[in-house]
Amino acid sequence: MIESTKYKSIINVQDIELRTNYTALEKEKLLKKLKMGTKEWAGRNVNCVKGCGIGCIYCYAKAMAKHYRGYTDDSWRAMQTNDHAVKKGYGKSKRKSSAPWDIMFPTTHNIFIEEPYFSACIKVLKKCLNAKNTVLITIKPNLAVVKKLCTIFKKFKNTIGFRFTIGSVNSDILRVFEPFGSSFEERIESLKYATNNGFSTTVSAEPLLDRKPYDLIKNLVPYLSALDYERDVGTIWIGLLKKQYIPQALRTGQIKKYLDNIKSALKFDHIFSYYRELYSNKRIKWKESVLKLMIKNDIKVKLI
Ligand code: SF4
Repeated sequence: MIESTKYKSIINVQDIELRTNYTALEKEKLLKKLKMGTKEWAGRNVNCVKGCGIGCIYCYAKAMAKHYRGYTDDSWRAMQTNDHAVKKGYGKSKRKSSAPWDIMFPTTHNIFIEEPYFSACIKVLKKCLNAKNTVLITIKPNLAVVKKLCTIFKKFKNTIGFRFTIGSVNSDILRVFEPFGSSFEERIESLKYATNNGFSTTVSAEPLLDRKPYDLIKNLVPYLSALDYERDVGTIWIGLLKKQYIPQALRTGQIKKYLDNIKSALKFDHIFSYYRELYSNKRIKWKESVLKLMIKNDIKVKLI
C-alpha cells in the first residue's frame, strides 16, 4: 500500500549514491561521534513518575528497572509519583550540549490525564519553563492531555516543543507493542491540535514499527510544524526497534507473529533501501541505531 511511486513523489524520495569506503579509523571516529539515547535531542532529562502505565513491550527504561531495581512487567505499570522530583527546584540548564532543547520531559514515563500524575507533571513543567528552559515534551499523545497542556502552557508556546512518538500508521500494531497507548488516529489528532494551536511539533518514529516509513511520513507531514532543521522542529526521527529489550516471556502469540514479520525489516539491506531514498529529505533525522548500521556498512551519514 505504502511504497507506491505516488507516495514517493509526495514525500521527496530520491535515489542517490551513498556507498563509500571508510578506513577503520574513520569508522571508529564516526561511531564515537554518535550521540546515544536522547542526548541528540536535549541537554538534560527530567522525570517525576516511577513506572509507566503504557507498558510498551520494548521499553528500555522498564528493562533497566527490571534488571537493576526489581520491577516486573506488572509493577512497572503501577505508577508512583516521585515526590522528590516534584518538590525540588529546577534552574536554568547550564549543561554544555549542542542539542537543540535544554530539557526533555519526560523520558521514562508518559503524561497521563489521571491524578496525581497529571498535576505532578504540570508542577515540574512549570518550574522548568519558569526557569527559562526550552522543553521538549516527549509523549505518546493522548488528545485530552495535549489539549490541557496547550491551554495551561499557552504563554510558553515559544519555548515548548511537542515530540509525539508515532511508530506506525496501524493502530493494531501500536496496540501490540504499546498495549495501553493511544491509537494512531488519536496521535494524529493530537499532532494536528498542537500544531494548529501554534506549538512547535515534531515526531519520533522510534521504534519504527512499520516495515518502511513512507506511509507514516505521508500521513504526518500535513500536520507537522513548518520545518526548522536547526531548532529540530517539524522533523521526523526514525529509529529501529531494539528487540533485545523485549522480554523472552512476552514473545508469544500475536507479539511473536509481529516480531517474526518485522525481522527481515531490521536487516541492513532493507533499512538501507529507505535510508537511501530519504537521505535528502530535510524532515528526516536518523537515530543512532540507523546511523551505526550505515557506518558499519560503509554508507555515508550526516552527523548532527
Ligand atoms: S511510554 Fe515510554 S516509558 Fe512508557 S512504557 Fe512506553 S517506552 Fe516505556
